[in-house]
Amino acid sequence: MKTIFKRIIDKEIDSEIIYEDDISLAFVDINAQAPIHILIIPKKEIPTLDDIKKEDKELIGHLLYVATKIAKIYKINNNGYRIICNCNDDGGQTVYHLHFHLLGGKKLSWNPT
Ligand code: 5GP
Repeated sequence: MKTIFKRIIDKEIDSEIIYEDDISLAFVDINAQAPIHILIIPKKEIPTLDDIKKEDKELIGHLLYVATKIAKIYKINNNGYRIICNCNDDGGQTVYHLHFHLLGGKKLSWNPT
């Protein structure tokens, strides 16, 4: 069964897409935890960070690079931002399609309990 993010990639469900290229997609999180909360995902179906292979190293770098470009577009780069990747159950992952959260637009607290 497709994950919700695969359905977003395939444009079966709507999302607020802010960036797309051949290998990645970025869209606004439906349940934003900060003024800026963007999800950056690979189009390749990789369930978790724990599933990446050697051949995915460039892709992971690309996703982080895209995140930095988006941070600049939203002008949160100077004040700062946070990139999070929740991995598996203890990490708080709920959607099993690899994604990076880009959070910013306010002073973020640090209490990952
Ligand atoms: P995780 O908990 O797996 O690290 O993050 C999953 C994120 O996906 C959550 O922040 C959640 O709000 C977001 N999300 C879940 N379903 C949808 C959806 O249908 N559309 C969008 N834009 N975000 C979603």
